[in-house]
Amino acid sequence: AEDPRRRVLKDVFGFDDFRPGQDAVMEALLAGRHVLAVMPTGAGKSLCYQVPALVLGGLTIVVSPLVALMQDQVAALRLAGVAADTINSSLDRDANVAAWRRVAAGQTRLLYLAPERLMTTRMLEALARLDIRLIAVDEAHCISQWGPAFRREYEELSRLSGIFPDVPIIALTATADEATRTDIAARLFAGSVESLVLGFDRPNIKLGIETKQNSKRQLLEFVQRHAGRSGIVYCLSRKKTEEMAAFLEQNGVRALAYHAGMSKDAREANQNAFMTLSGVVMVATIAFGMGIDKPDVAYVFHTDMPGSLEAYYQEIGRAGRDGREAVAHMLFGLGDIRMRRLFIDEEDAAAEHKRRAHRRLDTLIGYCETAQCRRQVLLGYFGEEASPCGNCDNCLDQVPRADGTAEARIILGT
Ligand code: ADP
Ligand code: MG
Ligand code: ZN
Repeated sequence: AEDPRRRVLKDVFGFDDFRPGQDAVMEALLAGRHVLAVMPTGAGKSLCYQVPALVLGGLTIVVSPLVALMQDQVAALRLAGVAADTINSSLDRDANVAAWRRVAAGQTRLLYLAPERLMTTRMLEALARLDIRLIAVDEAHCISQWGPAFRREYEELSRLSGIFPDVPIIALTATADEATRTDIAARLFAGSVESLVLGFDRPNIKLGIETKQNSKRQLLEFVQRHAGRSGIVYCLSRKKTEEMAAFLEQNGVRALAYHAGMSKDAREANQNAFMTLSGVVMVATIAFGMGIDKPDVAYVFHTDMPGSLEAYYQEIGRAGRDGREAVAHMLFGLGDIRMRRLFIDEEDAAAEHKRRAHRRLDTLIGYCETAQCRRQVLLGYFGEEASPCGNCDNCLDQVPRADGTAEARIILGT
C-alpha cells in the first residue's frame, strides 16, 4: 500500500517529494519519539508536523510565538482543506468560542495556540479530555535562556511532557547551537530525545564578505548589480535603515524602510509592498523577517555585522527560497566588532550571559575573517561536515588568484 505520509503530501499539499530531513522527522514522530528538528528557514519545518497530524488523526497542538504566524498558517491549511483552528487574543470572543466547540467536538486536526494560552490550567484541563496525538513547538529556541530570543512564556512549556506523557513532542527551530539544543531537549523532553540536525545547507545562496569602506556606495553598487530583483538589506540601527532607503531611492532604486519604531500602519504598508511587488528592496532592522515567506528574495545584504552566526544564518536563509541563485553579502569592519562588543557589555544581563554572547560573537568574527570555504565554516559550526562549496567568495577567489599567478609567471618569464 502507498505510504500514508506521501499520500497526504500529494493529496493535501500538492507536493511530490519530501524535502531533505522532512521524511526522517516524520518517521521518528510516527514511531512515537520526541524530535528536535533543527532545519534552516525555508526548509519546510511546518510540514514536518502538519503531515503527521493528518496521518495520526485526533488533535495536534501547535505552539507558536506570534499571533500573525498562527493566523497565516491556519488560513493556508484551511485553503488546503485541512480542519485547522486557532484560539488567540486577536479573535473576538465568539470566534474563540466557535473554535473551541469544533476542537471539543473532535472536528479540528490542528489547533494553534500561543504558549501562555496553552499553559493555563483551564486550557490544559480541557485538553486533557481530548484525543491529543502530537504536540509541536515552533520556534523552540525561544525556550532556551542561552538563546538570543528567550521568551518567559516558553519556559512554562517544560511542564508539557509531564502533563502529556504519552504524546510525542516535536520542537522546531532554525537556530540552535549545541548548548541550545541540549537545553531545548532537557526542558521539553526531560532529556529523552531523538535529536536531528538536518538539511543545513542552502547551496544556492552564494556567501560573500567585503571589507566595509563606504557602506552607502558599496550597497548601491551591489543593489544595482541585482537591479529589478527583490532583496533585503539589514542595518543595525533604525536611523540607518531610513538613511539607506532614502539614499537608494535618490539613486533610482525602489527601496522601503522597516523597523520597530515605525507605526504599525507604515510597517504593514511597506511589508505588503515588499511581499506583493517584485524588485523592491527592503531596508530593515532585524525586526523584519520572522515568518516572512517570500520565495523570490534574490539577496540578503548586511550593511553591519549581526550578533551571532545563528542570527546571520537565519537572516540569510530568507534569500533564495525558490531554489534559484541567491546571494548573501556582508560588509565587515573593525567598527562592527567594537559596536557589538559594546552592545554586549552594556546589556543588563548576568555575567555568564555576557560571556556566552561574547563567545558567539567571536565565532561570527572567525567566520568573517576566515580564508577557508565559508560554507564549511558555517555548516561546521552547526555540526555538519562539508567539502569546499565553490559558491563562496573564498572558494571563488582562488580561481582567479591562481590564474593571475600563472599569468604573471608567463609575463615575467619566471
Ligand atoms: P520553515 O518553517 O522551515 O521556515 P515553511 O514550513 O514555512 O519553512 O516552508 C517553506 C516553504 O516550503 C513553504 O512555502 C512550503 O509550502 C514549502 N515546502 C515545504 N515542504 C515542501 C515540499 N516537500 N515540497 C515543496 N515545497 C515544500
Ligand atoms: Mg516556520
Ligand atoms: Zn566555499
